[in-house]
Amino acid sequence: MTWKITKFELDNPNLLVNESLLSLGNGYLGVRGNFEEGYKEDYKSIRGTYINAFHDETEITYGEKLYGFPETQQKILNVIDAQTVQIYLDGELFSLFEGEVLFCERNLHMDKGFAERIVHWISPQGKEVKIYFRRLVSFVTRELFALDIEVEAISPISHVKFVSTVNGDVSNFVDKEDPRLASGHAKRLHVTEVRQENRFSIVKDTTYVTNLEVACVSCSAIESGSHTYDSKATDSSVEETYVCEGEEPFRFTKLNVYTDTMRHGSNVAEKAVNILASLQNKPFEELLAEQKTYLDAYWEVADIAIDGDVRVQEGIRFNLYQLLQSVGKDPASNISAKGLSGEGYEGHYFWDTEIYIFPVFLMTNPEIAKNLLLHRYSILDSARQRAKEMGHSQGALFPWRTITGSENSAFFPAGTAQYHISADIAYSYIQYYLATKDEEFMKDYMAEVLFETARLWADAGHMQNGRFRIDSVTGPDEYTCIVNNNYYTNAMAKHNLLWAAKVYELLKAVDSDRLHHLASQLGLTETEVGIWQSAGVNMYLPYDETLGINAQDDSFLQKARWDLKNTPSEKYPLLLNYHPLTLYRYQVLKQADTVLAHFLLEDEQDFETIKNSYDYYEQITTHDSSLSSCVHSIMASKLGYQEKAYDYFNETARLDLENTHKNTKDGLHMANMGGTWLGIVYGFAGLRLKENGLSLAPALPVEWNSLEFRLRYQGRLLKVHKDREATTYIVLEGEGLNITHNGETLYLKSGSKVSVK
Ligand code: BGC
Repeated sequence: MTWKITKFELDNPNLLVNESLLSLGNGYLGVRGNFEEGYKEDYKSIRGTYINAFHDETEITYGEKLYGFPETQQKILNVIDAQTVQIYLDGELFSLFEGEVLFCERNLHMDKGFAERIVHWISPQGKEVKIYFRRLVSFVTRELFALDIEVEAISPISHVKFVSTVNGDVSNFVDKEDPRLASGHAKRLHVTEVRQENRFSIVKDTTYVTNLEVACVSCSAIESGSHTYDSKATDSSVEETYVCEGEEPFRFTKLNVYTDTMRHGSNVAEKAVNILASLQNKPFEELLAEQKTYLDAYWEVADIAIDGDVRVQEGIRFNLYQLLQSVGKDPASNISAKGLSGEGYEGHYFWDTEIYIFPVFLMTNPEIAKNLLLHRYSILDSARQRAKEMGHSQGALFPWRTITGSENSAFFPAGTAQYHISADIAYSYIQYYLATKDEEFMKDYMAEVLFETARLWADAGHMQNGRFRIDSVTGPDEYTCIVNNNYYTNAMAKHNLLWAAKVYELLKAVDSDRLHHLASQLGLTETEVGIWQSAGVNMYLPYDETLGINAQDDSFLQKARWDLKNTPSEKYPLLLNYHPLTLYRYQVLKQADTVLAHFLLEDEQDFETIKNSYDYYEQITTHDSSLSSCVHSIMASKLGYQEKAYDYFNETARLDLENTHKNTKDGLHMANMGGTWLGIVYGFAGLRLKENGLSLAPALPVEWNSLEFRLRYQGRLLKVHKDREATTYIVLEGEGLNITHNGETLYLKSGSKVSVK
């Protein structure tokens, strides 16, 4: 049961939400769970197919445009639609909104990598059929989206007609009411090629501004007996018609191959034709078998097994599955806030990647994690340029939201001002190094990224009375903007600065030629490194003596407190009901800020300060952002607030499945999905990854009987099992190691189980 998500609804808006939940993807290509034949006319649908990072640019219109505001915005595009297949039974068009639906079930198979729809239907004229729809987006051939439809006649049917379309006339979805969605410029692609050749339907589109091309080449096959075939091309689409007679079941299979100029170079249509030709004779069953093999390997390491809570188990697997479907696996792409499941946030990459998603892959699939770092490295030059634009003499300022590196945030107080993203990226490089000890990567990429981000902090901040201060930035909490000395930002910048200095020494020790080369390329001197060290050591971290907490920033605690208890429920999320300035005037948080810093850098403060801070900020946090509850769960675990830890965790585990944020229709909340894994592994199991190695402090929620997961660490595979009696560790692959368990050193010999209290 927990490997399958099942849906029965046929109403709108449920269908709209299910389009996101039942979406399929592989990190390159994503297809929403739309019906092949479409819905009723007045039903809302976001019919979408997306290619990670495939985008166009639109101009940003400002009322008052000031210096350094981004001029253009990138936008992921809904590309050529190959989902459409109409089915006629003796001339009657199949639709779930006509006739009688005896049964309709939809399943997303997370262990097998496909989605299905099983329909039992009687047409208005009394034809009775069962129709089985299956679809997959291949994990093995990233360009492939395949459909398989089988019609079983229950009452006699003499012919079945399949009309299959590949349509290049597509646009993005628009919702003017919601700032989290695109607000215009829906049509960004025009059709540049349509043809039929040797039964291949070929459609190519080109973007308006970026001049990127996407091709979709499709071919179909009928398995059952005799049939006729016809095709016609219009200006924007190719339509194929198959009429099957006699024998049944009637089976129709459609393979669609997508290519684009960001990955496949020029001649994208020809490339797609070649890929399709190599796949043409593969039966659908073989594609399914490939999916299974791929997923077996994924789940072998990534799965978390929980005994005692089926709903949570289902939520965890769903979240881990969707992360895999959305995460970019080539250096042109990262993972966007909504993955490949929708158009919310326009396909942009945020800090969500580094702080919420990257750790999941780092500890289960380090190759995928590495790719995320490589993508950031690929935009380092843009980040250097942006730093200059923002008035810094040196360094790299990573964009708050982007696809290919340019800053895309039009609202700078909660966008560009979130300088912390540069330290977040540095943090993820450091975590990668700690988890892999990959020295070559450190030399080739990490050193440069750390040096350039450290330079940014050195330039952005200043020394005053012996303390290093960073003014006019925004921390993670977007209800408090443009402040001096945001605790989170300063603590993360400190980490960034000190590690940059450390890596400088490390590189000097292991490969001084390399350091020389890099230093001369960057114009870097030892004096500069000394400045980083001093800025880091002297970093000012706001602390309030009276409350015994870290103040979120210099002015936060002087503001009035927002009265959350008397705020009517319909006023949430606050950002949709109050002007930003109103929110900025109060002590009220959209999401974890200082509490998050205390998780990521727990050694900065003593336990009391961390506890007091949690108690304080919890009272004024709305969790209006889906990036918040998981952090509160992790920290509640650390502080021994078991019930709270479980409650917050529960909010994350099924956030999309229950549509609790009411916008799942626009795409799934990827950061929260990563947060579920973090809530278990860093929260309940207490994992920390530091210079002195791995430490764990597993505690089982009272609702569960046991918990089991695996971790990759410096070439090893480690299994952790926790039940009521004990924690059992076993190194399944690689050498033995010392870990810290509940504060005590524990040696784990390779292959031997070690059970401890
Ligand atoms: C959150 C940000 C996040 C963004 C994308 C916003 O609502 O406040 O922290 O990066 O969503 O998920």
